[in-house]
Amino acid sequence: MERNHHDVIVVGGGISGCFAAATAATAGLDVVQLERKPREQGGFIACGDAIKSPRDPQKYPGPIDMDAIADDESVLVDNNIDQIEYRDEQLGVRKILPYETGSNVVDRYEFGQRLLEQAAEHGVTQHYDTVVNEVTQNGRVTGVKAVRDGDPVSYEGSVVIDAAGAQSILQDMIEFETLETPSDPTFEVPHYTHFGSAYREIIETDEPVEYQNAIVGKPLEELGYIWYFPRTPTQINVGLGFQMNKPPIPLVDRLRRDVESRPEYGGATVAERFGTANKLGSAIALRRPLDSMVAPGYLATGGAAGTTHPITGKGIRGAAYSGYSAGRAAIEAIEDGDVSEAGLWEHNRWLYRDHGEAAKLASWDAYNVAASALEVNVLRALTALLPETELREIVGTSTEVESLSAKLLVGTGILKNFVAEYRRDTFDALGVSLGALSDAVLTVRKTRDYVGTYQKQYEAYPADPSTFDRWRADRDRIDQGFYDALELSPSEYKY
Ligand SMILES: Cc1cc2nc3c(=O)[nH]c(=O)nc-3n(C[C@H](O)[C@H](O)[C@H](O)COP(=O)(O)OP(=O)(O)OC[C@H]3O[C@@H](n4cnc5c(N)ncnc54)[C@H](O)[C@@H]3O)c2cc1C
Repeated sequence: MERNHHDVIVVGGGISGCFAAATAATAGLDVVQLERKPREQGGFIACGDAIKSPRDPQKYPGPIDMDAIADDESVLVDNNIDQIEYRDEQLGVRKILPYETGSNVVDRYEFGQRLLEQAAEHGVTQHYDTVVNEVTQNGRVTGVKAVRDGDPVSYEGSVVIDAAGAQSILQDMIEFETLETPSDPTFEVPHYTHFGSAYREIIETDEPVEYQNAIVGKPLEELGYIWYFPRTPTQINVGLGFQMNKPPIPLVDRLRRDVESRPEYGGATVAERFGTANKLGSAIALRRPLDSMVAPGYLATGGAAGTTHPITGKGIRGAAYSGYSAGRAAIEAIEDGDVSEAGLWEHNRWLYRDHGEAAKLASWDAYNVAASALEVNVLRALTALLPETELREIVGTSTEVESLSAKLLVGTGILKNFVAEYRRDTFDALGVSLGALSDAVLTVRKTRDYVGTYQKQYEAYPADPSTFDRWRADRDRIDQGFYDALELSPSEYKY
């Protein structure tokens, strides 16, 4: 068997893999990046392709030159998306939320290709057609085994960075309980109900769509949504996803049914890539980022670490900054000669405390828990009535509803909308009683309070693993308080 030795082994040629690999290589480390796809298919990934503020170095830190990518016309980052639309066509509801400037729907394949090119330019060795099928460990994770171009090959290194995406196969293979940690391992493999299943097609229309400056979402019959994200006025990323704690939806058929019912898609065809229809599906993390993203010799990043928005499923940005964080932590640990759990802890600390986005994602997950607890029709009625400011916060485009008086207005705003805007029989059609709606309003209020409580807890994330157990026990108590406040039965607990 061919044997390779590198300082850092990055598994995955997606966004987080490229950010991690480029960051580590910039410090002069010997980095290999392993990707199961062939070179020309790298970056060909199931995604809605919506990306926010690609030029913002806080959102996309590290050596990857996002300005160059944003300037690249084949990636199509031309800042033309300036609003999110929520539609519930059955209820005649259309809400328009402003979106951050510098946002767009990219050609995800071209974006992925540019990232891989840049990682290579920073000195990363890339092995394509390389399927990782085993992890080696000896007190710590020491490397991986793979099949490369049909031949077995092994890779040994100081640190393995798991950038293999949501439901990473590496996490199934590692025996975390046998790794050397001072107490129980801090890393826990997520449950399958913490993921969503999503599918998308790229379709081409004859005429420009009217919502060419908007990303559009509308509810499904189960917890989840259908989206129309225009890459160009005539090329639309259409897709849908649902969370796996709910009954499955036949995604392909459901999407077809929707597309065929829309006049603007009459005569539309599915675009081609690599000589076949451009249709892809995949898993998506819909949970809070992992409590700990490290184990001895091992760092998880991107989808594999749950750095995805727990309501919208958007994870490009989380993959970028968590990839950077993993590369950065690997550099420090290798320089210090300590790749233990404590030596790699900086990855957790930086993401939760210094950078802070992981703390926000973790606290927003309370909305996911609350949404799962509500009947879909109640949720639809509630969303129809939510003031735009509150909706904006939940989908993560604004945090402006901060003050106590604003919080109180949320419930009042919903009821005012109910009286002013929508006829009672619309809600009767959904089978939603006023009582159920009032309970749901109360749920939103309680959830908002818990979002704040979680945020404070995550901002106090432990600086090293020695106090992690205590911190997690405190966080678990917050979970319990939240579940009790929502009157959930144990079978409904998310964690
Ligand atoms: C249908 C869908 C729509 C989405 N829409 C959006 C959106 O509009 N905006 C947004 O921001 N986010 C969206 N997301 C989420 C976003 O795509 C992910 O969060 C992001 O791609 C995660 O990046 P990653 O680098 O962690 O993992 P991935 O992009 O999944 O990359 C993982 C890589 O690892 C490789 N790999 C996996 N296993 C192995 C192995 N055993 N050996 C070798 N290589 C391996 C894979 O081939 C892949 O290239 C969507 C996700 C889905 C599924």
